[in-house]
Amino acid sequence: MTREERHKAIVRRRVFVSFCVIVLAAVAALIIYAARAVFTPDGEDKNGSDSGISSMSSQSSDDQQDSSADNSSGSEPDTPSYPDEGPNGLDANYSKLLLVNGEHPLAEDYDYQANLMTIPNEYLNNSWFKQIGGQIDKDVWPYMKAMIDAAWEDGVDLYVWSPYRSYDMQKTLFDNQVSSCKANDPSLTQAEAEAKAATVVARPGTSEHHTGLAADFNMASDSFENTEMYKWMQENAEDYGFVMRYSAEKQPITGVIHESWHYRFVGINNAKEMNRLGMCLEEYLEYLGENS
Ligand SMILES: [Zn+2]
Repeated sequence: MTREERHKAIVRRRVFVSFCVIVLAAVAALIIYAARAVFTPDGEDKNGSDSGISSMSSQSSDDQQDSSADNSSGSEPDTPSYPDEGPNGLDANYSKLLLVNGEHPLAEDYDYQANLMTIPNEYLNNSWFKQIGGQIDKDVWPYMKAMIDAAWEDGVDLYVWSPYRSYDMQKTLFDNQVSSCKANDPSLTQAEAEAKAATVVARPGTSEHHTGLAADFNMASDSFENTEMYKWMQENAEDYGFVMRYSAEKQPITGVIHESWHYRFVGINNAKEMNRLGMCLEEYLEYLGENS
């Protein structure tokens, strides 16, 4: 091979190597381009998520604006504002939150006589109370009367079965219940029979009936739950300041079995708020204490 031929061979090799480098570079560029094309949809998804997040955050800032608007109206957040006046011009803010239960008894000599009045017999359906005179807190009676009158206007036969009970009356009822428990199960000790009786009839001094702020309606029986009176009370009692005091759900707190017939006056706006919050009186008083 001559020197000239060797030189040409070197040039050809360099051209070939350059060509290969260019081809490889072109292939690499193609791969990168293809890769970017393949991964672009992910990028779009990510952008989509981003816009989702930004729309969520704008949503939450809307919420913040809403709640700050609520705050600027002067009421506590989440607490609806209630009117000052109930049906028949009744004071909706009038309140009676005295707590009486197994842990908060009234003294044996606790006497409400000065605050009591006798319910007109036409509002009672219990012949015993018609004879001895059914009594109720005189400030609560206008609310109870308005409620019964309204039920009557709706064609519902709502009556007071058992209102105020003195300590002696409670003792008689409780002793009768203890006897009944022992008759049903003679193996019970006195303490066991009393404990069992206490879930049905309050121990003397621990009955809400002692306060003159509570009453049983129509009957003291589970069958009340199947009556139109119960249905009417479920819908309307709070408008007159009464709550069903003992639900099955709250028995662990109240210590009393479900009593569909027992209603307690707490005040119109308190009754509405208790029902809205789903609280029994024990819970509501704690809630008020925490939020005062
Ligand atoms: Zn009762």
